[in-house]
Amino acid sequence: MVSVAVFLSVALSYPLITDRCQWGGDVAPDRTQWSASSAETADRFDRTLLSQCWTDDVEAVRTIADRPGTGLVITARQGGLDDVYRLARHLVEGAGYERPLLLDANRYSGTRRLPATAPFDQDWISRQRELGLPVLTDSGYLASGDESGLITILDQTARLGDAIATLPLHLDWLTTPRGRWQLLRQVRAYGVPVAPVLEHRADPFDARGAVDGLLGLLDCGVPVVLLRSDVSALGALCCGAVAAAVGTRATLRHLTPVPSAPWSGPRNPPKPSVVVPRCLAYKRLGEVGRTRRKHPEVAVWSCDCETCDGKELDWMLRLPPKRQEKLAIQHSLRTLLSLRERLVGPRPEEDRMSWYARCGAASFWLREVGWIRPSALRYWQEAIVPPGRSDSAVPRPRSARPTPALSRSRQTPPSM
Ligand SMILES: [Zn+2]
Repeated sequence: MVSVAVFLSVALSYPLITDRCQWGGDVAPDRTQWSASSAETADRFDRTLLSQCWTDDVEAVRTIADRPGTGLVITARQGGLDDVYRLARHLVEGAGYERPLLLDANRYSGTRRLPATAPFDQDWISRQRELGLPVLTDSGYLASGDESGLITILDQTARLGDAIATLPLHLDWLTTPRGRWQLLRQVRAYGVPVAPVLEHRADPFDARGAVDGLLGLLDCGVPVVLLRSDVSALGALCCGAVAAAVGTRATLRHLTPVPSAPWSGPRNPPKPSVVVPRCLAYKRLGEVGRTRRKHPEVAVWSCDCETCDGKELDWMLRLPPKRQEKLAIQHSLRTLLSLRERLVGPRPEEDRMSWYARCGAASFWLREVGWIRPSALRYWQEAIVPPGRSDSAVPRPRSARPTPALSRSRQTPPSM
């Protein structure tokens, strides 16, 4: 009798959900109905650090992102779904790539982006299933306050039964009390895995409230895959994300807002940036070179990753621009994967505190070389150990091995 009652309650809830979606209502399915898809999503990842790239950069990262703990997100350019599908098919069926692979349709960005109320492309969903990949929805952009759009994305995802809801979010959804309350309430209610993409012109986690909002999302009881991020992807993994993606290029490390007026000046591609691991920061190669010459004694410049092989980080500046780009991408990915190995372990609470300690050490090194500390580092620390609380639980680093890059250390940061 109980199972019949449950069946009836689920069957009857569908038309109610649809009706309420049409006017932005607030009732959602019982999340226990979708827990199987959440469990399946969580099983596919192991706090995986994904490399998010355009199709052109897959070749540069493919072999690096082919070991435990890593994977790929391939992002489509406008109208480029066929290219992404063909490449994914080659990787899976031709090259035998077996790590987690997600396909980002990217219909949420640019001047021709779709709104969150747009229906999913069922053919695109089928193609991902056909390749045996985790299904990532091709959601439109979720503007500030568009609760109807939020419900449309979550409801369509729930109906698919095996998908991860891409949530391309205006930052208000995380940083304002009302936006965050609406977002968390609906995500809890629908209980589907979610993949937030955060809109900001630079680093969304530099905005007050973004880290707290992400932690709230991570506490919703659903698998979270953070997309289009930078070093904060490591923070997300330490705080409970099943996976997080770091972009190979600046354009894939956040969702760029659509400009209010079209840009009429020259379009120069940004110079390549590299991760300076002890500073937990991406910096332009030229800036790395200038700062190294100014502070050669500070132990942040040499790198022992397989790309750099002990050289100082700005060594790539002597190479042609295309080669610089490729090597900068490879160095950054190798370095972040190495950091992930040191940060992520079997005890989640310890991971959070390790990330806290890394952020503190990065602040020290940034000060040593005269770089401004990004607000994101402070917000991560304050979110993990609120001001006024003791941080005596901060553990020592998990590994006794030196971090990449520090063979000529002359200084020791606090607690690291
Ligand atoms: Zn390196």
